[in-house]
Amino acid sequence: MEKIAKKIQMVDLKSQYEKIKPEVDAAIQNVLNNTAFINGPEVKEFQKELETYLGVKHVIPCANGTDALQIAMMALDLKPGDEIITADFTYVATAEVIGLLGLKPVLVDVIPDTFDIDVTAIEKAITPKTKAIVPVHLFGQCADMDKIMALAKKHNLYVIEDTAQAIGAEYFSADGTKKKAGTIGTIGCTSFFPSKNLGCYGDGGAIFTNDDNLAAKIRIIANHGQSAQYIHDSIGVNSRLDSIQAAILRIKLRDLDNYASARNKAASFYDKVFANHPKLKTPVRASYSNHVFHQYTLQLNGVDRTALREYLASKDIPAMIYYPIPLHLQKAYLDPRYKEGDFPVTEKLCASVVSLPMHTELDEETLTYITNAVLEFCK
Ligand SMILES: *Cc1c(COP(=O)(O)O)cnc(C)c1O
Repeated sequence: MEKIAKKIQMVDLKSQYEKIKPEVDAAIQNVLNNTAFINGPEVKEFQKELETYLGVKHVIPCANGTDALQIAMMALDLKPGDEIITADFTYVATAEVIGLLGLKPVLVDVIPDTFDIDVTAIEKAITPKTKAIVPVHLFGQCADMDKIMALAKKHNLYVIEDTAQAIGAEYFSADGTKKKAGTIGTIGCTSFFPSKNLGCYGDGGAIFTNDDNLAAKIRIIANHGQSAQYIHDSIGVNSRLDSIQAAILRIKLRDLDNYASARNKAASFYDKVFANHPKLKTPVRASYSNHVFHQYTLQLNGVDRTALREYLASKDIPAMIYYPIPLHLQKAYLDPRYKEGDFPVTEKLCASVVSLPMHTELDEETLTYITNAVLEFCK
């Protein structure tokens, strides 16, 4: 197998930037000229454009996705000890803010096919102290929101969607309506970390809601609890999206659907090559959501994952493990309530998943090179 000239990356931000360089450079220069680095007009414009794109009443930009989750939870008047249910198989930020606020993370297992939170397990975990559910739209596909919203309604719970990996994905409700990820629950939270589907060139995040009162509250919390200049009604945080990042995001938002198509094209290529392979299970597409492929994640069956990654690395192909350790087995989240074996699906996934390069700039030559190497090792 001849190596190919182009360096293969998990995410190729450089090639993507090259395509929009003139616009991005001009937009950054414009902010420099105006020196409105914080709360400049770009932030307001981006907010409005994202509200239109998502079909949501309020977007509140903030400093990063972790802050978005924290601020969302601060806005819901939760009390220490209140229980928040979330998935065991997720990025740590989801559970981290729950712990940080003195709330109690209650972990539940996920579905092996879609990697999404198991709604039956949520129902079993509900107690009189449960206040909210945090579904994570993992890897770019929505969790089963109809069922989650029905459960939330029945038990009078808030729903905070962690859509850091699924901005732009659509949920298809049983009633025939379509809604964008993050606009279905009480509050939606996203991240604009550079490698996310809508990534800026630094840190950024946003909170979405259709509730006017909550939106007002969230704005105040994100700005030092300040309700009017130098009037502080509550203890808040300082969490802002800066003008340069907003200017970049405005340009990239126009391409977001094209980016999702490019990701889907790469995913279809992988799917086709790996279809029916006895050792490789391709990602399952849920009937209730489209997929924006933040990650393309295979489940390995009878393959030495470490050896596979070493083999791919020898061919200059990166492959990552999202995520290697379930939350309930992480030192920071160890809890007498949980032990090894409690979340068998997550534990199995953590031991068997591997994510292949996935971004907007993958061409057929690169995909062929990657898939040939995987097939060669897994034969
Ligand atoms: C990236 C990510 C976050 C955190 O976003 P940051 O902007 O890095 O703080 C939260 N949840 C999930 C699922 C993520 O993937």
